[in-house]
Amino acid sequence: MNLAFNRWRCSPARRTLLGFFAPSCQFPIPARNGIQPTNCKNFAHSSPLAFMKRIALILCSATLITTGCATPPETGEKAVDTKMAAAQIEPFDGDERLSDTAVPTHYRLSLELDPAEETFSGTASITVELAEATDRIDLHAKDLDIERVWVNVGKAKYEAKVVEGKNGGVTVALDEPIGPSKLQAKTALVFEYTAPLDEKPHGLYRVKDGDDWYAFTQFQPLSAREAFPSFDEPRFKTPFDVRITVPDGQKAFANTPTSSVTEEGDRVVYDYASTEPLPTYLVAFAAGPLEVLEAPKDAIPGVPLRVITTKGKSKLAKYALDVAPALLKAQTDYFGMELPYAKIDMVAVPNFWAGAMENVGLVTFRERLLLVDPDNATPGDKYALQSVMAHEFAHMWFGNYVTPAWWNDIWLNEAFATWMATRTLAEVAPELEPRIDAVKGSLRVMSADALAHARAIRQPIRDGGDVMNAFDGITYTKGRAVLQMFESWLGEEDFRDGVRAHLEANAHGNGTTKELLSAWQEVSGKPVEQTIRQFLDQPGTPLVELDYKCEAGKTTVQLEQSRYLPAGSTADHGEPWHIPMCIKYEADGKVVRTCEVLDAPKKTLTLAGDTCPAWIHPNADEAGYYHWKLPGDHFVALAKDYRDALSMPEKVALLPHAKALVEAHGLAYGDYLKLVEHMAREDHRVIVGQVIDALYGIDEHAVDETNRAQFTAWAKKIIDPHVNRLGFAPKDGEPAEDGLLRPKVIRAAADLANDTKVIEQAKGVAKEYLQDPTSVSIPQAKLALRIAAWSGDEALWKKLRAAITKAPTPSARVATIGALGSFRSPELVKQSLELLLTDAIRSQDAWTLMGPTLGEPETREVAWSWLEQNYDALVEKVGAKSATSLPWVGSAFCSKARKDQVEAFFSKEERKVKGMERNLGQALESIDRCVRYREYMAEDARAFLEDI
Ligand SMILES: [Zn+2]
Repeated sequence: MNLAFNRWRCSPARRTLLGFFAPSCQFPIPARNGIQPTNCKNFAHSSPLAFMKRIALILCSATLITTGCATPPETGEKAVDTKMAAAQIEPFDGDERLSDTAVPTHYRLSLELDPAEETFSGTASITVELAEATDRIDLHAKDLDIERVWVNVGKAKYEAKVVEGKNGGVTVALDEPIGPSKLQAKTALVFEYTAPLDEKPHGLYRVKDGDDWYAFTQFQPLSAREAFPSFDEPRFKTPFDVRITVPDGQKAFANTPTSSVTEEGDRVVYDYASTEPLPTYLVAFAAGPLEVLEAPKDAIPGVPLRVITTKGKSKLAKYALDVAPALLKAQTDYFGMELPYAKIDMVAVPNFWAGAMENVGLVTFRERLLLVDPDNATPGDKYALQSVMAHEFAHMWFGNYVTPAWWNDIWLNEAFATWMATRTLAEVAPELEPRIDAVKGSLRVMSADALAHARAIRQPIRDGGDVMNAFDGITYTKGRAVLQMFESWLGEEDFRDGVRAHLEANAHGNGTTKELLSAWQEVSGKPVEQTIRQFLDQPGTPLVELDYKCEAGKTTVQLEQSRYLPAGSTADHGEPWHIPMCIKYEADGKVVRTCEVLDAPKKTLTLAGDTCPAWIHPNADEAGYYHWKLPGDHFVALAKDYRDALSMPEKVALLPHAKALVEAHGLAYGDYLKLVEHMAREDHRVIVGQVIDALYGIDEHAVDETNRAQFTAWAKKIIDPHVNRLGFAPKDGEPAEDGLLRPKVIRAAADLANDTKVIEQAKGVAKEYLQDPTSVSIPQAKLALRIAAWSGDEALWKKLRAAITKAPTPSARVATIGALGSFRSPELVKQSLELLLTDAIRSQDAWTLMGPTLGEPETREVAWSWLEQNYDALVEKVGAKSATSLPWVGSAFCSKARKDQVEAFFSKEERKVKGMERNLGQALESIDRCVRYREYMAEDARAFLEDI
C-alpha cells in the first residue's frame, strides 16, 4: 500500500508548501515547525453509512459453490440465532489471533453486486482443514448480515450458528463437534449474507462519479472481513475462485483474468480463473460501467497490461501504460524472475483511502495519481505516478509472492517496496534523482523517530489500532533508510542474493524477518541479525559524536553513540545500536573512506595516512541511518569551506542535521542561520527547498511587525535569483528538476518575499483558468490558483467552488480544492470547511482542503474551532478508521494553552478509538517540541534579522 496521498498524519504544513509536487509526506512536505510527524498517511473518508437493506437470499449457484453447493441446511431453518448461541459460548474477539484449529485452504466467493444499490449480497464457501475435533470455528466477519451458515463435511451438512464477537470476530458454533473420524472428509463453511455497500472507502464500497455508481475495494489491513467472512490474517494464503454478477452493461474485475462471461437475463455473470495463494487483504474487485485501455500486446512480455477507469477517463490512462513496462522490467531483472501473476490491471479509483494498493492483478490507485496527461501535467505528477507504481509493483514480490505472517512484520512489505521504488526509479528515471529525495526522507523521518511516542519498525501489535498505526513513516521511510544502510554494508550483490534466496524459499507462502536475516547472514557471512536488531526493534535514531586529534600526522578518531533526542525530551535512550558506518575524510590530498560497525557505546579508530585530515565527514554519502556531530565549529566549517568536496547526498543532509543539533541545543541557532546563508548559494532543487523551509520556520516563529520588512528583504534576496532563473512558466526542454522546484520557489516568492509581479501573474492565470479551464495548462493553473486564493474574495471563492466539477483532470480538481482551503478571510475559510460535509468534496480530499487552513497561522484558529464544532460530522464523513489519526491536526499549534485544549478535546471518552492514543501522544509531544524550539531560537533569529 502506498500512503503518499493519505495525509491525516502529517503535521499541517504551511500553505505554500502543500502543493509542492506530490503532496505527500513520503515526498517532500515540510512540517510547519520542522518537527516531523511519524508519517504521512493519508486517510480516506467517506459519507454516511448507507442503510442496511436486506435483499433476497442468494440463489444457490451450483456451478460455483461446488463444495456441497450453497444449499441451505436440510431443515430449512434460519441458522443464525445469535442470542441463543451467545449464551452458550464466548465468541471470538477479532483483536485476538486466530488459532490453528481451522486453517482455510480455499475460498469460493460469489457476489451479487449492483453499485447503484446500498447493499450487496454474497455467498462464501471456505474449505478448511481441522486440526482437531471442534464444535466452534473462529473467523472474521464485520457488519455482515449473515442469513445462513452451515458446514459441509463430505456429503453431510451440519447446521451452525454465527455468534458475533467484538472487533469483527465471529464464531461459527455447531451443535455437535465435527469429530476426529470426520477430519479426513472435505470440510467447508458456507455463508450466505448481505452487507452494506456504503461510501466509506474500505471493504467493498461504492463511489458516484458523474451520473454513475461504481464499486471498488480496499481490504488492507483489516477490511476483507467487511466484504466476506474470512480468516482475515495474512498468514492464511489460499487460492480464491470468484464470481461476480453485475447488471447488464456493467463490467466487473477481480485478481485474475475472466474464465467466462455469461449473460443471465438482465445480469452478467463474470467468473475468474483461480488465483495463486493469496491472503485475504490482497483480494480485490471493481465493478460498474468502467472503461478499459489496453497496452499494446507484449508491452510486458506474457503479461496483459490495462488501465481501468470510470466513464470518459480512459483517455488519461496512456501515460500510465507507457511507463509501467520499464519499471516492471527493472524489477524482474533485480529479482531474477518473471512476474508471478497472470495480469496487471491498474484501476483509477475516484475515492480512495490510500495512494495505491498492490492487490494481485488489480492494483488500485487514487485516480489523480494514475491518470496523468503527459502533455498537461507537472513533473511532480509524473514523478509521483512512477514512484507509486514502482512501489506497488515491488509488492508483487515483497508482500504478495511472499507475505508476512503477521502485521508486526509489515516492514517486509512496506520498507522493501519503498526501497525498491527508489532503486527502480534511480535506474529508469535517473533525472528525477530519487536517491536524493530518499536521503531527504530519511532525515525527515529521524525527526519523528525522536519522539518518545515513536514506534519501532517492528512494534508489537496489540490490537487493530496498532495494525493501522503500523502503516506509518517509521515503517516506510525509516524502513527504507535501514535497508539502504544494510545494502551498503552487505554489498549490493549479497543483499540482492539474500533477497532472492528468501523469495525462493517462501514462494507463494509466508516469510518472517528472522528468515530474511538468516538468508542475508548465509550469503554474506556477516552478523546480520545482531547488527540490525536495534534498528528494527527499538525506536529512535542514533547520534554519533565524532571527535578527533591529529599528532605527528596520525589521526585518532573517537566515536561515541547515544540516542538522538531534542532538548527536554524524556524518551528512553534504549540500547546502543550496532551501526554500520563509513567515515569519509581528506588526507594527503585524497578523499578516503574507512568503514566500521560501531557496536559499542564508544570506539576509537586510527585513520590511514600520514597527514592531518583537512576535514572529516562521519557518514559517507549519508548511507547510514544516524545523526552525527563534529567537534566545535567543524560542522559549520565543513559546510562553508569544504562543501564542494561533499557528495550531493552529503550536502542535502547538512541543513537537516544542523536543525536537529539546534533542537538538541548542540548548535546555536545563529550558527544555523549562517549555514542557511551558505546553503542558499546552492541551486540544487532539494537544497533550495530546504532553504525555503528554513525561511518559513523563521517567519513562523520569529517574525512580527517590528522585523517583517527586514525578513521580507532577506527572503527576497535569497528567493529572487531562483525566480529569475526559473520564471513563472516552464521553458521548452527545461530539466525535470526545474519543473519540480518551480512551485516551491514561486509560492515562496509570493508568500515570503511579497513578490507583486508573481502575485499578479498568478491572479491573471487563475482568472483565465476559471473562465475557461482548457485555456491554461494544468501546471500553470495549479501554481496560480492557491496564490490567487490567498488574497481572494467571495467572488473568487464562488468561481473556485464552481470549478471543482469542471476540472479537466483529477489533478486539477485536487488543486482547486486545495485553493479553496487557502483563503485567508475567516468567513471564506469557514465556508470552505463547510464543503467538507457536502458531496462537493470526496472523503479522500478532506485533508487537501483542511490542511492549508490549519497550516496557516491566520486561519488556524478558525479551522480548529470549526473542527471542534463539527468533529462528529467530519468523522462520519472520513470514517472511523481515519479518526485514529485526527489528533494530528492539533500538532499545528505551538503553545501550552493550545496543547491543553487539544489534549482535553481528544481525550474525551466518546472520541477515543483504538490506535488514537499513540497519535495523540505524538501530536502533543510535537507541540511541546515546537514550544521549546521557539523559545530557543527566537532571540537569535530576531538578532540576526536586526543585523541584516
Ligand atoms: Zn506499500
